[in-house]
Amino acid sequence: MKPNRIKSVLIVGGGTAGWMAAAALSRFLGPSLSITLVESDQIATVGVGEATIPQIKHLNAALGIEERDFVARTNGSFKLGIEFIDWHRKGAAYLHNFGSIGLNLQQVPFHHYWLRERSEGATTSLWDYCLNTAAARDMRFAPMEKVGSSPLSGIGYAYHFDATLYGRFLREYAEQRGVSRIEGLIETCRQDPQTGDVSKVCLQDGRELAADLFIDCSGFRGLLIEQALETGYEDWTHWLPCDRAIPVPSSNEAAPIRPYTQSIAHKAGWQWRIPLQHRTGNGHVFSSAHMSEAEATDTLLDNLEGKPLAEPRMIRFVTGRRKQFWNRNVVALGLASGFLEPLESTSIHLVQSGISRLIAMFPDGDIAAADRTEYNRQMVLEYERVRDFIILHYHLNERTDSDFWQDCAAMSVPDSLTAKMDLFRANGRLYHREEDLFTDSSWLQVMLGQGLMPRGYHPIADALPSDQLAGFLGDILKIVGQAAATLPPHADYLARHCPAA
Ligand code: FAD
Repeated sequence: MKPNRIKSVLIVGGGTAGWMAAAALSRFLGPSLSITLVESDQIATVGVGEATIPQIKHLNAALGIEERDFVARTNGSFKLGIEFIDWHRKGAAYLHNFGSIGLNLQQVPFHHYWLRERSEGATTSLWDYCLNTAAARDMRFAPMEKVGSSPLSGIGYAYHFDATLYGRFLREYAEQRGVSRIEGLIETCRQDPQTGDVSKVCLQDGRELAADLFIDCSGFRGLLIEQALETGYEDWTHWLPCDRAIPVPSSNEAAPIRPYTQSIAHKAGWQWRIPLQHRTGNGHVFSSAHMSEAEATDTLLDNLEGKPLAEPRMIRFVTGRRKQFWNRNVVALGLASGFLEPLESTSIHLVQSGISRLIAMFPDGDIAAADRTEYNRQMVLEYERVRDFIILHYHLNERTDSDFWQDCAAMSVPDSLTAKMDLFRANGRLYHREEDLFTDSSWLQVMLGQGLMPRGYHPIADALPSDQLAGFLGDILKIVGQAAATLPPHADYLARHCPAA
């Protein structure tokens, strides 16, 4: 073992990010590494990360977490996608599904065949060829990897959960694997005068905690990455003007436990509805330049399906990212590393990908500048891809009822996004770029859902004789409909397999 190998890690903060880091590091590096987490009861966690994307299943599998236990312990539910209501224009809705749509033929993505059918006058929606949509419409759910003996893929899904219970669940997991937890308020930190590295954090009660590597999960304040190291922040509010969120839970007796998230566009932002077993999570994300906090609160309260279970609280944020995610011997995760609004439920995933990159590049001895640079390069790219995807939802709108939506439609967008939209607009082509978190299917659904219809399609789709095309598409509709009908109601699946503990 190299004498200067990292032997101790201090995780600063015990929100979702901190406990995810503690769980994963203890699972993969545990015995050779002393892992401590410090958090303060005096500073509450954000605690509203409640919706996820399917990649979380990889984390659960890596940690050996069993799905039904996990859903039961977090009062969770299953998520087939996100329904975007009033986003394209008022009265319109579409589902961004996690499942695949149709079936590719001769290496040509399915939607080109659909575009051909449409150009010949057919009106079937692309979404009708998706099992996730059919299940969501009828509020059905059960895991299904493949559709019977057909070549169609099954259901793609993620979870909704109670973030506080998720934190507790991970804490138990991490402590069982040797992570020590210290309760205490950090007042300041010390840096090595020679290297500038953080050497210890100092608590209000006089204790000092030293470590070789620090993981800053202290939330928006970025105790180490910003307050100590002054890393700097890249501000993206000119593309994503929302800067406030008001979360409020509500009772759920009035609404079914939908197997999907709802995102409802309002005058200057949007509202989420996240169904859990014991309540619904709601929140209104909005631009304070376009709407007052009082009006935003009223809008949210007027659009709850149940009774509010707590006072609404105001969360203020600046969309963007730290200039470096790993600076000196500090790696920032979660809100300390940057913030993108929860429109596509990506924050928890970005914590997950930061942790898995850190584990992949874990230093063998001194921290190599090359490792740090590569880590930052990958994280920047992934953040930017997610940013582009979120901007897409706002930019491609045809709402004329408020300045907010018109400003979003008129704004200039990053070149990377313009290139992607132009390519799709021309001939329906999509390409998966390095570190792109979302699949082509996700981009396809949001582009079409927001009203961007390609002018052309791949000419190979014309090679199929009309009767064969009709047969191919008709078969898929039939198989999808039959498969959906075999699924149980989502509420029954939850009650039977993962009732809230
Ligand atoms: P926090 O939860 O803020 O935790 C910070 C921790 O640091 C706390 O334990 C605190 O005690 C500790 N701390 C801070 N200062 C000190 C100090 N001086 N001394 C000691 N301890 C200290 N993500 C999703 O994936 N899906 C979603 O649906 C989603 N919805 C969201 C909705 C909103 C409105 C917001 C704001 C975020 C949402 N997120 C979502 C993001 C998600 O909530 C966060 O990424 C996640 O909770 C991680 O938070 P965190 O652990 O970084 O920070």
